[in-house]
Amino acid sequence: MLTHLECTRCGEHYPADRPQSVCPKDAGILYARYDLPNIKRAFSSARLAGRAPTMWRYEAVLPEADPVSLGEGFTPMLASREYPSVYIKDEGLNPTGSFKARGLSACVTMARHFGLKKLAIPSAGNAAGALAAYCAAAGLEAHIFMPKDVPVANRIECDYYGAHITLVDGLISDCARKVAELKASESWNKDGWFDVSTTKEPYRVEGKKTMGYEVAEQLGWKLPQGIIYPTGGGVGLLGMWKAFEEMEALGWIGSERPRMITVQSASCAPIVKAWEEGKSSSEMWPNAATLASGLRVPKPYGDYLILDILKKSHGTAVSATDAEILEATRHWAKVEGIFAAPEGAASLVAYRKLRASGFFKPEDRVVLFNTGNGLKYLDVLDGSVERTLLSAKAASRKPAARQIGGIIGPY
Ligand SMILES: [Zn+2]
Repeated sequence: MLTHLECTRCGEHYPADRPQSVCPKDAGILYARYDLPNIKRAFSSARLAGRAPTMWRYEAVLPEADPVSLGEGFTPMLASREYPSVYIKDEGLNPTGSFKARGLSACVTMARHFGLKKLAIPSAGNAAGALAAYCAAAGLEAHIFMPKDVPVANRIECDYYGAHITLVDGLISDCARKVAELKASESWNKDGWFDVSTTKEPYRVEGKKTMGYEVAEQLGWKLPQGIIYPTGGGVGLLGMWKAFEEMEALGWIGSERPRMITVQSASCAPIVKAWEEGKSSSEMWPNAATLASGLRVPKPYGDYLILDILKKSHGTAVSATDAEILEATRHWAKVEGIFAAPEGAASLVAYRKLRASGFFKPEDRVVLFNTGNGLKYLDVLDGSVERTLLSAKAASRKPAARQIGGIIGPY
């Protein structure tokens, strides 16, 4: 039922029977397009009942290939204990402990289908772990390029999955440059290499879009008033919006749409800045640094699509400081029993701000995405626990003792 790929900038069509990256004309992101009228005739949402609780239950709207699956998707939609109209979509329960499993399951499935051998990825951490796991399951080579200061869990998991790891002194954008260099090398085409960077191939979006199908199915085919989504590369946001359009064409939902909210770290907020300035694309964020490593994306490739979705959905973009994110991580753990990734807990910070500003009313149904499991951030969170303890100690002493040459501890 997959008919072709379509450029999101110029609308040009490309064949879907071979590996494709971005539009050769304008470098636009390519979306997979399906024969939706035919799917509508052959399949209804009622037929989903009783299917396996993985994202492949939506195979009718996914490419036809033998799935490389580790049981990803169909994660719980938990009713919040704190806010009666809030739901938490807990993506931390995916294989490899993050929402990245969905995109990489779909992407590796297609890579194997096309006979590719070596998959290269620049990653802020969790996508690397997911690629490594799915490549292991598929018998392909994973080549990981990630910042050397990613959470320890990401490095260890990639190593255990047998991936080839290059640690880069820099950010995900520097890692992307390494992959681009590799692409220019002679062996790239000869040895079956492929770049599976965020939105630079069409199928990670297809995997991530299943989050949109799940939100609808788990809420009884009634979309919520809002979705708050921690946005690094923003693939899930693109994917969910695409899912809503497909579901409307299939007659599974109506024309209603949730307000889509991007939350980013205050120390790396290119989308928030562009949104506030009314721009249609973002600028490279200088000196990005946040403990929410998945949000350390200085310029998402799909920025033009993210900003368009925020606009069309009457959504907004919100930032959260590292201190707010840490507090929210602890609060969610204590109040909801959910040990979230710091990126996920940023959703709670955004929700509180949007409630305080009146953007959301108490009765508005809002889905907050927890994108990963806190257990993957033990070193990051442990460091913050130590820092909190140290600063509490420091506060009880004379402050002068903690300052040397203008540098404020802890050292
Ligand atoms: Zn194009």
